[in-house]
Amino acid sequence: MRIAVIGGGIVGLTTALELKRELRNANITIFASDFDDTVSHVAAGIFRIGSSYFGPSEEITRKWINDSYEYYNDIRKSAEAGVAGVTNISGYIFANSGPNAVKNKWMEGLVPIYRAATDDEFNIVGGDWKYGAFFTTLLTQCSLHLPWARQKLREDGVSLITRKIDSLSEFGEENPLIINCTGIGARELCDDRRLVPIRGQVIKVKAPWIKNCFYGELDTYIIPGHYGICTLGGSRSFDSVFSGICQHENRAIRERCETLLPSLSKAKTVAYATGLRPHREGNVRVEPEKLTGYSGTIVVHNYGHGGYGVCTAPGTAKYAVQLTKEIHRSTSKL
Ligand SMILES: Cc1cc2nc3c(=O)[nH]c(=O)nc-3n(C[C@H](O)[C@H](O)[C@H](O)COP(=O)(O)OP(=O)(O)OC[C@H]3O[C@@H](n4cnc5c(N)ncnc54)[C@H](O)[C@@H]3O)c2cc1C
Repeated sequence: MRIAVIGGGIVGLTTALELKRELRNANITIFASDFDDTVSHVAAGIFRIGSSYFGPSEEITRKWINDSYEYYNDIRKSAEAGVAGVTNISGYIFANSGPNAVKNKWMEGLVPIYRAATDDEFNIVGGDWKYGAFFTTLLTQCSLHLPWARQKLREDGVSLITRKIDSLSEFGEENPLIINCTGIGARELCDDRRLVPIRGQVIKVKAPWIKNCFYGELDTYIIPGHYGICTLGGSRSFDSVFSGICQHENRAIRERCETLLPSLSKAKTVAYATGLRPHREGNVRVEPEKLTGYSGTIVVHNYGHGGYGVCTAPGTAKYAVQLTKEIHRSTSKL
């Protein structure tokens, strides 16, 4: 059985790993325009899902989230945690707009701790905050995780080919099964107008003394990663494809983060980065589609994870692979 996975970001690679786990004998090839410069590389990789994240139903979304957490937590507990870039992290979220701003229905009940901040904990940060919460979660650093995943796939016989796919029909009969994990690339590839880029900008600073993550309002976040590098964010520009660095945003991000944690004023900037979150109006798309005009060619789509693709990729990968297996069973191609 031949399967083509298109996309070399977190969604494509976790999908290929899951395919290999479930269908040992499948002949899998991953095609990607780029494996080293993806939106996944820009993400801090924290497991914290916002209320806008949604699959086809509440139940399925919950399952994706639970499966994803379990997937990363298993890696975190394993001997591979360090090379795979998965670790645990804890931190705070503060807000003034209302008590719901520090609540999170996807996270509460999933992570080991999610509770209201104590009075003393409000003094840990700068600013004058009315509401606060403390939580523990996981962090997956893609600069480590993606090369680790690629190495595992190569060892398992999966081919990785750098190639842009201009049309899903270009495989013809060659690959009767395609899994489409192209992130924002699906807007063009599938002409999916529900897929809208939400541009984000971050600053990477050297701040090894910061050990917790911190969130404030207006999309303010401080997330410590490996090697003492902290990600400061952020911004959300709807339907913007500008890939340059905006100096106004840099100043605003710095100012908001330094208000929250004044010690950051001493942190040296090491890099700036931008990325386009693949936000899909309605829901993340994980569903099969039969290509018209090409007998037997079936595509399973797996894209549109918005700002939560790193944390939820393993869950949608599992779901996409189950759909793939069902399709093969029903078309007797297994
Ligand atoms: C600033 C910022 C911070 C973020 N922080 C977090 C976070 O902390 N936690 C979190 O979970 N998420 C976060 N995200 C969101 C996360 O980065 C995305 O949801 C995730 O990376 C999407 O993964 P993907 O694999 O779908 O897309 P990508 O990583 O973009 O990968 C898409 C792949 O498809 C390939 N491709 C596209 N089109 C084609 C084509 N036509 N032919 C061949 N190949 C193609 C690309 O080359 C690439 O390899 C953040 C995003 C941004 C911008």
